[in-house]
Amino acid sequence: DSKDKDKFEGTWRLFKLAVPLDQDPGKDFLVISDALLQEIAKALKFPVASLLPREAFTIVRKSFDARKKLKEPKFVHTVDMDAKKLLSLEPRTWDFISRLEPKVGLVEHVLDRRDFGDLMSIIRDCKENKESVVKGENGHSILSGLHHIQTAKKPKIAVVGSGPSGLFASLVLAEFGADVTLIERGQAVEKRGRDIGALVVRRILELESNFCFGEGGAGTWSDGKLVTRIGRNSGSVLAVMRSLVEFGAPKQILIDGKPHLGTDRLVPLLRNFRQHLQELGVTIKFGTRVDDLVINDGHVLGVTVSESSDRLRSSSQKMEYDAVVLAVGHSARDIYEMLLSHNLDLVPKDFAVGLRIEHPQELINSLQYSELASEVCRGRGKVPVADYKVANYIDKEEFDGSSGSGLANRSCYSFCMCPGGQVVLTSTNPSEMCVNGMSFSRRASRWANAALVVTVTKKDFEALNYHGPLAGVEFQREFERKAAIMGGGNFTVPVQTATDFLENKLSASVPPSSYRLGVKAANLHQLFPTPITEALQHSLLSFDKELPGFISNEALLHGVETRTSSPIQIPRDVDSYESTSLKGLYPVGEGAGYAGGIISAAVDGMHAGFALAKRFGLFHGDL
Ligand code: FAD
Repeated sequence: DSKDKDKFEGTWRLFKLAVPLDQDPGKDFLVISDALLQEIAKALKFPVASLLPREAFTIVRKSFDARKKLKEPKFVHTVDMDAKKLLSLEPRTWDFISRLEPKVGLVEHVLDRRDFGDLMSIIRDCKENKESVVKGENGHSILSGLHHIQTAKKPKIAVVGSGPSGLFASLVLAEFGADVTLIERGQAVEKRGRDIGALVVRRILELESNFCFGEGGAGTWSDGKLVTRIGRNSGSVLAVMRSLVEFGAPKQILIDGKPHLGTDRLVPLLRNFRQHLQELGVTIKFGTRVDDLVINDGHVLGVTVSESSDRLRSSSQKMEYDAVVLAVGHSARDIYEMLLSHNLDLVPKDFAVGLRIEHPQELINSLQYSELASEVCRGRGKVPVADYKVANYIDKEEFDGSSGSGLANRSCYSFCMCPGGQVVLTSTNPSEMCVNGMSFSRRASRWANAALVVTVTKKDFEALNYHGPLAGVEFQREFERKAAIMGGGNFTVPVQTATDFLENKLSASVPPSSYRLGVKAANLHQLFPTPITEALQHSLLSFDKELPGFISNEALLHGVETRTSSPIQIPRDVDSYESTSLKGLYPVGEGAGYAGGIISAAVDGMHAGFALAKRFGLFHGDL
C-alpha cells in the first residue's frame, strides 16, 4: 500500500552501529565491513547480513568511543540506507523494510534528504537555473529558487583578509561573476612558511607574516580541527566541508566524528583554493595591508592600502570598490582602531582568557584509554591519538561570600585541544606574548596541549579601568605584555607546572616543552587578577577528579592564552550582512565577532558572499 511505498522513498538513517576496534577495517575508513553489515542487519532485524547489498549503505559518521565504562573500545557509525537500492537488488528485504519503524536517535526516515554539493557545484546549478538549497544551522532554507542573472556591470568588491571567512566570501562572489580583489597583508603560504621557519629557528618575527597573518589566516599553521558548534549536519557546514574536499582535503573529513586536517594538509589545500580563485578571475594581492577606508557621506567608496615594499617609502594607494568585505580576524587590532576613528559602532564582547596546558601525549593516552594506550602508535594505528574536553562551571552558592571576589558564575573550559601537537607563538608584536597550538595531520608529536580559559566580561575590563569599545582589546594586551615581561623577552614563554600553580609557587624545575623558542619558570599565578587565577586553580582540581593525573609535575602551563575569540563585535544587519553604521562595509568572520573557528568563519564568509551577490543582483531567489 502507499504507506509501505513511502518507506522505499528517501533515506533511512541508522544510528549507533558499533563495531569493536579489532573488527574495524582500519585505513579503509569508508568501507562497509562485514562487522558493520552485521550491525546494519541487526538494526533492520534482517536475519542474513550477507544478503544485504553493501552498495545500499553509506557511512555518514564514524567516531571512536573508548569510554572506560565500555567493555571494549568501538567505532560507532551512522549509516544511510537507500531503500530503493534494496528494492531493486533483494526482494526478500522488502518485508523487513516495511516493518521498519522510526525510533528517535536509532532509526530515522528522511523523505526529503538533499544531497548538498560543494559550493562551486551549488552555484553552478544555480547558474543553470537548477534548484539549489543550502540549509542553515536551524534547518531553515537560506537559499532556494535561485536564478542567475547576467548583469552588464560586474560589481567591484574588495575582500580584506584571506582567512577562512575571506576565502569563502571571495569564492561565492567570484563564482557568481563579481570582480573580486582579495587583499591580504600577509604572504602566500610558500613565503609565509619560510617566515614562520625564520621565527621558530632564528627568532625573527615578521610583523605581517606569521602564525596569525598570511594566506589562510590564523587557521593555516593550526591544528586544523574542523569541529564546529554550529550544526555539523547543516547544509552550510556540509557545503564548506565538501568544498575543502574539492580543494584536496581527504574525504574522511566528511565522516570522521572529529575531523582534522593538520598544517601539512592545509598548505596544499590553500594553494589549490588560490588557483581556483585565480581561474575565476580573482585578483589576489599578498603583502598588501588595508590601512584605511575611503568614506563619503556614510558610504564606503574604497580602501587605502600599502604594500610591504611601499611601506618602507611610506606611500599608500587608494583603490575604489562598490563594497568592502572586512574579514580581518581578531588579531588586526589596528583595523579596530581605524574603524573607531571613523565612529563606527564597535561593541565589546565577552570572551575568555587563560593559559595553555601541555602534557606528554602518552599521559593523556593512558588517562583516556588505560591499557589501550599502547595501541596509539603515534597516529599510525587505528586508535586515534587521545584528546580531551573538560569544563567546569563555578556557581554562585559555592563561592559567593567566601571570597566575594567575582569568582562565581564563571566557566572554565579546555579549548582548541591539540593532540600530538606543539605550542606556538601567536604574537603579532614582539612586546606582547600569546600562544596557541598547532599540529600536523598524523598528530605524532610527544605532546598534547590545550587552552584552559576562564570567561571574562565587561566587569573584568572595568575592574582594570578599561572602558569603551576597545576595553576587551586593552584587557588582552595587558596580560600579553605581562607575559612577555615574565618570559624575559626574546619570545621566551613564561611557564609553571600545574602543581606549583596550585601552590602559588615558582617552579624550581620545569619539564620539557614542545615550544621551540624556550620557556622560563615564572609566577603565572600572579599574571591574572585573582578571580581568574582562582577559577583556573579551582577548575584544575575538578579536571583532575575527572581525569586523575591531569594535575602533575609533567603538566606545564604556558602563558598566555588571550585570543580565544573576538573581544568585540561589529554590528551588522541580520539579512544583508551590511554594517549598521557604514553602508557598503560587510564585517564577517571571527574578527567581526560572528565566528569562532575555521568552519564557522568559513560559513559566515559564505553567507555574506551570498548576501552581497544578491544585493548586487547577481542572482535572485530566497535568502
Ligand atoms: P583569520 O583566519 O584571522 O584571517 C584574517 C586574515 O586577514 C589574516 O590572514 C590577516 O593577515 C588578514 N588581515 C588582517 N588585517 C588586514 C589588513 N589590514 N589588510 C589586509 N589583510 C588583513 N580553529 C579551528 O576551528 N580549529 C583549529 O584547530 C584551530 N587552531 C588554531 C591554531 C592557531 C595557532 C590559531 C592562531 C588559531 C586556530 N584556530 C582554530 C582559530 C581559527 O584559525 C580562526 O577561528 C579562523 O582562522 C578565523 O577565520 P577568519 O577568516 O575570521 O580570520
